[in-house]
Amino acid sequence: MMGPAHSLSGAMAWLGVGAAAAAADHAMPWQVLLAGALICAGAALAPDLDHKSATISRAFGPLSKMLAGLIDKLSEVVYNSTRGRGDRRRTGGHRTLTHTWIWAVLLGAGFSFAAITWGRWAVLVILFIHMVLAVEGLLWRMARVSSDVLVWMLGATSAWLLAGVLDQPGNGSDWLFEDQPYLWIGLPIVLGSIVHTLGDAITVSGCPMLWPLPIAGRRWYPLGPPRFMRFRAGAWVENRVLMPAFMVIGAASGVGAVMLAA
Ligand SMILES: [Zn+2]
Repeated sequence: MMGPAHSLSGAMAWLGVGAAAAAADHAMPWQVLLAGALICAGAALAPDLDHKSATISRAFGPLSKMLAGLIDKLSEVVYNSTRGRGDRRRTGGHRTLTHTWIWAVLLGAGFSFAAITWGRWAVLVILFIHMVLAVEGLLWRMARVSSDVLVWMLGATSAWLLAGVLDQPGNGSDWLFEDQPYLWIGLPIVLGSIVHTLGDAITVSGCPMLWPLPIAGRRWYPLGPPRFMRFRAGAWVENRVLMPAFMVIGAASGVGAVMLAA
């Protein structure tokens, strides 16, 4: 899928988690519901940091370009050194390491660790990164190179405002883990990456999300539904069917989460 579909599916998934949490008696304050949906929308672009021309790789200028180059190399090395008998050797690491659930969990755990260890400044950085990505993902081709600085300013102000709101007592910095403020912040990040891999799995190329589990002699087996249910990234199914569905389901879940919490 392309940027906007990934981001929308991320926001929808977090709103779904919000509804489930409310049903399970751990209702999120609406501030967490909103901040989490935005973080998850941004995080749903993260796996493509293994590809230099992806939205995320140009979202932070030369810095993200460089990081994308490194991640691509790292992914290639990990792929080639862990491939099974049935996996062909390859150059370039796109859609390998960063498209696995292990990577998703490590990434989220890393951000949670940073948030509880370094406090407010880490939270601001995490919010900034994900707000910029959310704007890039949701606005996509509207936010091109000429507007980079504007998007960074938007990201910085919304990070600052959100952190200020979440910090107020009862607003959710301590949601789910009472003694560890912001430990939850890794959850929308894990979820965003996982939703991204599912989105890629329903395109023609599939996604090796269960690495290193051996499947049919391969450790990088590109999982996905049967062929006839898959489509090309950016196809009409994505824009006309999936994206409207993500919006409707996301909105319904959001309303459900707020009503159940009340
Ligand atoms: Zn991808």
